[in-house]
Amino acid sequence: MTKKQGEFIRIDKNLDFIDKFMRKEECEMGYIGNHLSASKGFLAMGKQITKLGGNTFAFFTRNPRGGKAKEIDEKDVEEFLAYKEEKRIGALVAHAPYTMNLCAAKPDIRSFSKEMFLDDMRRMEFLPGNFYNFHPGSHVGQGTEAGISMIAEALNEALPLAEHTTVLLETMAGKGSEVGRSFEELRQIMDLVECRDRLGVCFDTCHTWDAGYDLVGNLDEVLKAFDEIIGLDRLKAVHLNDSMNEKASHKDRHEKLGQGRIGADALKAVVCHPALDGRPFILETPNEDEGYAKEIALVKGWMEQE
Ligand code: FE
Ligand code: FE
Ligand code: ZN
Repeated sequence: MTKKQGEFIRIDKNLDFIDKFMRKEECEMGYIGNHLSASKGFLAMGKQITKLGGNTFAFFTRNPRGGKAKEIDEKDVEEFLAYKEEKRIGALVAHAPYTMNLCAAKPDIRSFSKEMFLDDMRRMEFLPGNFYNFHPGSHVGQGTEAGISMIAEALNEALPLAEHTTVLLETMAGKGSEVGRSFEELRQIMDLVECRDRLGVCFDTCHTWDAGYDLVGNLDEVLKAFDEIIGLDRLKAVHLNDSMNEKASHKDRHEKLGQGRIGADALKAVVCHPALDGRPFILETPNEDEGYAKEIALVKGWMEQE
C-alpha cells in the first residue's frame, strides 16, 4: 500500500498502547521553557531562556493584541540561530496573536486574520524547522461546522507558504464559541486540509482539562483517545499549565504548576509520559522570571528522574 503525501500515519492498533512507547530503547532529551517577550529580538530571547535554565521557548509573532509585526532583523536571526545551535536549544513554539480569529463572523476581521496568518508563515521561514501554534478560532454564533470549514480554508492558503514550519492547532478549553474543544473537532479541521504533512497539534494541559479531559484520573485514556482520533505522531508540543478551575469548567484560567486543580503529580505524569517523549514543553503560567526559573528547574527534575 502506498501512502499518499500528508496522509495520517496510523499506528498499529494491535500493539498495546503504552507498551509500544515503553519499548523505546532510550529517552530523548527533554525540552522545557516558557513564553518570552519578543520585544528585544531573538538573540535576547535565546540568552534569556539560557538564564532561566530552559532549552526551548515560545513567543508571540507580533503584538498579541495588535496586528502590526516588527520587521524581521536578519542579523539578529542569524546570531540567534548560531546561538541556538551552540546551546542546543530545541524547536521553538511561536504563538499567533490572540486577535487572529480565522472563523470570525465579520468578514473584515476574518480577512485581517488571514493576512496575519499568511504574513506569519512568511516570517517563520526566517527560522526554519520550528513550530507555529494558533488558536483555531471562535465561531461567534455561526456554528462549529461553519467555523471548522473557515479554519481549514485558511490553513489551505497558509500551509503552502510554510515550507519549513509545522503549524499547530491548539487544544482549546471551549470558552465561549471556541472551536477545537475536543480532539474530534481538531481532527475534523485536519481532515479538510490538503497538505497535512506540516500540520500538528499543541496539547495545552489547562485547556484539555477545562474542556473535560481527565488528566488527573486517567491520563493514559486521554492520550489513547488522542491517538485514536488524531494520532500521537501529530502531537508536536505541549503547553504545560495548571488550571485554576475544575475539569470541564470551560474557563481557561492558567495557574502555576502544582497550585491549581490539575496538580503537580498529574503534570509530572504528563511530562514523564513515554508517549510525549522529546516534545517541547512550554510554560504559560502566571509567573515572572523567578517563578519561571523555579518551574523550569522543577520540570527538569521530573525529566531527569525518568
Ligand atoms: Fe494559546
Ligand atoms: Fe496554551
Ligand atoms: Zn489558555
